[in-house]
Amino acid sequence: MRETFSSRLKLSAEQTEVKKKCCRFTDSAFTSPGAVLSKKQDSYDTISAIWEKCRCDGCRQVFFRRMFIIFGSVTDPMKSYHLDFAFSTAKEAELMAELLSENGFGFSISERSGRHIVYVKNSGAIEDFLVFIGAQPAAFEVMNSKIVHEIRNDTNRQVNCDTANIGKQLEAARTYIDAIRYLLDTGKLDSLPEDLRITAKLRIENEQLSLTELGRMMNPEVSKSGVRHRLKRILAAAQNAAAKEGK
Ligand SMILES: [Zn+2]
Repeated sequence: MRETFSSRLKLSAEQTEVKKKCCRFTDSAFTSPGAVLSKKQDSYDTISAIWEKCRCDGCRQVFFRRMFIIFGSVTDPMKSYHLDFAFSTAKEAELMAELLSENGFGFSISERSGRHIVYVKNSGAIEDFLVFIGAQPAAFEVMNSKIVHEIRNDTNRQVNCDTANIGKQLEAARTYIDAIRYLLDTGKLDSLPEDLRITAKLRIENEQLSLTELGRMMNPEVSKSGVRHRLKRILAAAQNAAAKEGK
């Protein structure tokens, strides 16, 4: 069988040491050969009988842990958040939801292909339940997955943002270069003021350079915004020229 988050959790839950005598009694009630405890048949009587005999908080912890081992499953928190118990009858599901609620856990009930499911999809509730049954390492994995998801979301947002900015920059650079080419081809660049002619020449001769780098090549040096301002004037001149040409 392929090892899943759920099967790993059950395996370690199964090995949890139970110390107190009353709690050990509760534990053995689940494992005794005569106990009717199965997803496939009505186990209502056995479940309620064992619950009735719980004496302490430790017994209740054992009860929910054993219930999870037999009837429960949980999805890998790196993929999604879902923890449930599956029963063959509606009254078992109702009893389980009620017992969970008495212990502070709000689970929902649904029916899926003839099975009665008591489930929760909230990562915080899953974490709390896992702590409650003594499965701290698994609870930690849920907590950790939330951190990983958050970092991943932030990183995606950052990458998308950077890509959009680079795209915009490239598009702008392309527009200016097209404008300069147009002015060159139509012989109109020569009629522009000297500062714009120098800027245009440097721009098309150094397509790969940033505005800051272009500014440094000028004498005297021009700031990034100064270069951008000149490029905008060049673009405006090209647009004017094109408008006059009727293009
Ligand atoms: Zn006990």
